[in-house]
Amino acid sequence: MTSPTLDDLRALPVPLVTRFAPSPTGWLHLGHAFAALTAFDLAQRAGGQFLLRIEDIDRIRCRPDFTTGIVEDLTWLGIAWAEPVRQQSQHMAAYAAALARLQPLTYPCFCSRKDIAEAAAAPQGPQGPLYPGTCRQLSTTERQARLGEPYVIRLDMTRALASVEVPLRFYEQGQGEILADPAAHGDIVLARKDTPASYHLCVVLDDALQGVSLVTRGEDLFAATSVQRLLQALLSLHAPHYWHHRLIRHESGRRLAKRDGDKTLRELRIEGASPADIRRMVGL
Ligand code: GLU
Repeated sequence: MTSPTLDDLRALPVPLVTRFAPSPTGWLHLGHAFAALTAFDLAQRAGGQFLLRIEDIDRIRCRPDFTTGIVEDLTWLGIAWAEPVRQQSQHMAAYAAALARLQPLTYPCFCSRKDIAEAAAAPQGPQGPLYPGTCRQLSTTERQARLGEPYVIRLDMTRALASVEVPLRFYEQGQGEILADPAAHGDIVLARKDTPASYHLCVVLDDALQGVSLVTRGEDLFAATSVQRLLQALLSLHAPHYWHHRLIRHESGRRLAKRDGDKTLRELRIEGASPADIRRMVGL
């Protein structure tokens, strides 16, 4: 997975609509700058459109001052986006409607994270332990009786895959068609009590509603694309092309993180860095 070059522009979808979709859970760092500039530069060079989306469905971790910080940092970097900015917290009804469409393929799951971690049979999936399926077996009467307890909504992966045309594929820029493997993720969570729609559900719906034709994002989300491709098929949504780019790392190779003392863009700015310095620092 390499960074975009001018030559790669020939293979891009037309019209080109890219986006940067940060979660306002902290101040932006160099990794965000690279992701945002990559999407913005591609759209600029191809005469396409660049969009900004604020992924703030997690009411506990997201903060309005971080959203303001995102807008300030991007503007300082010289990035401009087509309005309106889509703020996910303003569209919960749309996500609830998508979830309702998937309802026949879902079930309530009452297991705690501890229950799942302790289930001896639970193998690992790409994003943590695979759900062992305990609550999939519950009868309708058992489910009804427990609906007062805390629960999450899970997708029954086997039934979901049986209702779409398989195998599913997605188009990765520079690599071509990739075979999607949603089954590796098991029965994924589609909604929780405090976050009534999952990241996966909101992302596929928004990318389709906003007409995004090329999703550029870090290679850490490559595996998630398989799940998102399945949701697109289940909801009959158009699948964009993808470009999972390199991550900006600390010299030691670890990922950048505020808790490890990595500087935020605003700190670098206050210390006198220019937008051109930031571009140099991330290799653009
Ligand atoms: N909101 C996600 C994040 O900040 C990115 C989602 C995406 O690009 O698909 O990691």
